[in-house]
Order: sequence, then structure tokens, then C-alpha cells
Amino acid sequence: TANEGGPVTAGESGPVTSTGTGKYAERFGGQLVLVTGAGSGIGRATAFAFAEAGARVVAVDRDTESATRTAELARLIGAPEAWAETVDVSDGQAMEKLAAKVAGEYGVVDVLVNNAGIGLSGSFFDTTPEDWKKVLDVNLWGVIHGCRLFGKQMAERGQGGHIVNTASAAAFQPSKALPAYSTSKAAVLMLSECLRAELSGQGIGVSAICPGLVNTNITSTAHFAGVDAAEEKRRQKRSARLYGLRNYPPEKVADAILRAVVRDQAVVPVTPEARGAHLLSRFAPRA
Ligand code: NAD
Repeated sequence: TANEGGPVTAGESGPVTSTGTGKYAERFGGQLVLVTGAGSGIGRATAFAFAEAGARVVAVDRDTESATRTAELARLIGAPEAWAETVDVSDGQAMEKLAAKVAGEYGVVDVLVNNAGIGLSGSFFDTTPEDWKKVLDVNLWGVIHGCRLFGKQMAERGQGGHIVNTASAAAFQPSKALPAYSTSKAAVLMLSECLRAELSGQGIGVSAICPGLVNTNITSTAHFAGVDAAEEKRRQKRSARLYGLRNYPPEKVADAILRAVVRDQAVVPVTPEARGAHLLSRFAPRA
């Protein structure tokens, strides 16, 4: 829970002016953006995209080294200030401490990106209660903690804001290979929609981002190498053939995240595979 990463700031603090050059600089320049799971993959790419827009970035990850690296690079890319915070998002007390620290030292977060997540494959009967707990603790509770703590600060400040939750196409695409993961993401999707209804009157938007397969550590490491790994591999290959989505870059997901905030989109299927699955699902927009 410690802030071992320490702050990585742009030198002496003074009035914050936008240094952003990205296409969203006007929208996000000088804003405070907190991204969880910012040490890798989609979270890191998102931190960079906000940095490019001149936002002040809080990079949160349970891995100190990678969060620190993200903050350093965010500064180089254009963030006037960037900090690394080492926190496990599933730890409610650590998240409370983080929320208090951020509000006290950096300010009220304008954009919160609850992105930290872990993968887990395995058939339903091969998924142990411990597995279920682990996945739900990070993927669902991490998002609940973030929304409760930072959403409350946004609401109390009364100047609007935006919350982005990284769900997944798995949220509307049943899979024998990923029951726990898919359930956690379906819950994140519904939570996002409920919270969107709750906060809409206060100028606070909530978006659920639903990528299909993206080229990050989560898809290339042991996370998804459970008992049904072979089947999952086959499914991924099929998808790749169908949609040509091999190597979908996290940067494109980051771009979709910034766009979702700008356009205040509720549910955003990102990859071609995810858009197809969304249209075929019961969550498809009605004509
Ligand atoms: P990744 O493994 O590259 O990055 C995840 C980051 O989150 C890592 O830096 C990790 O240290 C951090 N993290 C994990 N558990 C944490 C915790 N308890 N507290 C704090 N940090 C934690 O994976 P990614 O693909 O970038 O995943 C980001 C999000 O996108 C996840 O929620 C994932 O479920 C979702 N997603 C990914 C894909 C995909 O194909 N890559 C598809 C749909 C959704």
C-alpha cells in the first residue's frame, strides 16, 4: 500500500498549464486522471494517451516498478505532473488511503479509469472457490472501490467528471473457457450502467469499455493458461481468422477510452470482434 514509487513530478510545482499536444489536449490538458493497472498493456497506453493530451496522471498499479516507469514516461510524453502509486485495487483499505492521499495532495480526480484486471481460464468445475474470489476481488471489487471512493469525491466537488471501467467483450459473450472472468466483466458492465444512471444528473459520465482480444501481457502469459488453454487458443485463432484481429494494439483501446469520455459513451465495444459480439448479443442497441 505504500507509495514506494514516489512522485515523479515535472520539477518545482507551480500553476499547471497544459503541455499537451495530442488531439484531445483541449479537453484534458491540466486535468487530473487516475488510471489503475497503469503499469502494463491497456492501462499504460491509456496513461500515455492522457499524458499526450497534457493531463496530470496518477499511475496506479500493484507493481511498483512498472507504475514508476509509466509515470516517468508519462512525464516525458507531456504530462505536466505524473505520480506512481503502488496499490492493490482489491484492498479496500489501501484504496481508501489512496483516495485520501490523492485528494489531499493532487486534487479531485477528473477522470478515473478503473482498468486493473486479471485473467483466469478454466471450465466452471475446474474453477475453485479461491479462483472465483481472486478474480472477483480484483476485477469487480477493484472497480467497486474505485467508483465508490473517487466517484464520491467527484460528486461532492460538484464539477462533474468521468469514470471509465474496463470491462470486456467477455461481458456479453458467454464462454465455457472463462466463466469466472466473464462473470466478473458482466458485473462490471452492469455496475457501470447502474452508476451511469445514478450519476447522470450530476454531470458525471460513466463508460464501460469492452475490448475483444488485445495484445497485452494478460493474453500472452500464464493468466489464461488454465486447463482449457487449448480450447481458448483455438477460439482466439478462429477469431483472428474471422476478424483479422491478431495483435490489436492497446493504444487503440486507449484512444477508444479518451473518445468515450469526450463523447460520453455508455458501452463501447472496441475491437472488431467485440463490436460483432455486441451486435449479436442481447445488449445490442435497439433500432
Ligand atoms: P496487463 O496484464 O498487460 O495489465 C494489467 C495491469 O494491471 C498490470 O500492470 C498488473 O500489474 C495490474 N494489476 C493486476 N491486478 C492488480 C491489482 N489487484 N491492483 C493493481 N494493479 C493490478 O493486461 P491488460 O490487457 O492491459 O488488461 C487491462 C484490463 O483490460 C483488464 O481489466 C483486462 O481484463 C481488460 N481486458 C483485456 C483484454 C485483452 O485482450 N488484453 C480484453 C478485454 C479486457
